[in-house]
Amino acid sequence: MAVSNPYQRFIKNLKDAMEALELPKPERKLLLEPQHEFNKDVSITKDDGTTTKFHAFRVQYNNARGPYKGGIRFHPAADKDEVKALAALMAIKTAVVGIPFGGAKGGVQVDPKTLSTRELEELSRAYIRAFVDHLGPDTDVPAPDVNTTPQIMAWMRDEYEKLTKTYAPAMITGKPLSNDGSRGRDTATARGGFFILEAVIKDQKLKAKNLCVAIQGFGNAGGTMARFLYEAGYTVVAVSDSHGGVYAKDGLDIPEVEKQKEKTGRISGKNLKGAKDVTNEELMELPCDILIPAALDNVITADNAKKIKAKLILEIANGPTTPEADEILGKRKITVIPDVLANSGGVTVSYFEWSQGKSGEQWTDEQVDSELKLVILTAYKDVRREVHRRKIPYRQAAFIVGVQRLVEAMKQSS
Ligand code: GLU
Repeated sequence: MAVSNPYQRFIKNLKDAMEALELPKPERKLLLEPQHEFNKDVSITKDDGTTTKFHAFRVQYNNARGPYKGGIRFHPAADKDEVKALAALMAIKTAVVGIPFGGAKGGVQVDPKTLSTRELEELSRAYIRAFVDHLGPDTDVPAPDVNTTPQIMAWMRDEYEKLTKTYAPAMITGKPLSNDGSRGRDTATARGGFFILEAVIKDQKLKAKNLCVAIQGFGNAGGTMARFLYEAGYTVVAVSDSHGGVYAKDGLDIPEVEKQKEKTGRISGKNLKGAKDVTNEELMELPCDILIPAALDNVITADNAKKIKAKLILEIANGPTTPEADEILGKRKITVIPDVLANSGGVTVSYFEWSQGKSGEQWTDEQVDSELKLVILTAYKDVRREVHRRKIPYRQAAFIVGVQRLVEAMKQSS
């Protein structure tokens, strides 16, 4: 039977790892539920004078390895189970990549495209007022996620500092550069994914020049990834945003797509040479070598896993593949590089930003880039070792590495 709830999907992967590690029952129990779940309704005054309420969440899954860490998403589909699953994934991710944080996530059930800038600011500040007692540089450090931006982080920091009467640049990451942000944070998720992809390709003895890539999502992560790949000589055959996408067999001119998206807010095949429109569902099944889901969860399922043509999937989105799909892809010998490894560049540079906020230092672009490469390729090698040793897929191996580190830290703190 299909596991349809995102938290149940996480638990399936978690249990497989706990089984492989032969963890004793009491230790297993500690990881099955988050340590804290906070839900509140936050209200804002709309520009027309009326008041509107939104459901808001912050879930703190585990802090054995350091302060809770994880983004806040503004999305109509954000709910308790989704935020719970994402918080848990953060704890595995920070452990896999070996940075001293735990895992958390936040969300507001809202379509931010329906809000004016002033309303968006009010909502961002209301979120902090709702959860201020549970946040802080050494307690729980939020960051951007789907539909949340550096500007939103700046409003949130300001609200926190006002409420707590403190100077707290390290209470949140993903801030604008002019607001104690870090160089390289905006491109970090894609940059980390790119480093991993290059390492996988080298291991598989492939050449970038001969590889076609389809990317679902053209936001901060997907759009930046498209540019990195285009510049490195890959043939990016398809990209999409939430409205749909484009496909060009011989490759898209990514700078042209960026220009179009900037100008019209959309991606369409109309003014792009050799391109035709595709839906987000069609994009997943296009002929290509590498498929990069870089938008939302639950997009590779038992329904389409049989039809995917790519040989390699790099998960830049969180939770794009269901356990049933994983099984099908495994049988078809399609390599899946899981979210907890492939998209860990974002939180890694968040860690650099947090450290800079604490010390007052300012790192250069080169420093961020070389440290990110070092951290993420070390994580890749740690996971790859388990893949080869146990002859298992990358997701299972990454969960084993992450859970083992989490359990070790929990033993020391209990
Ligand atoms: N939202 C990003 C993620 O899912 C970044 C989290 C962070 O920087 O704390 O990994």
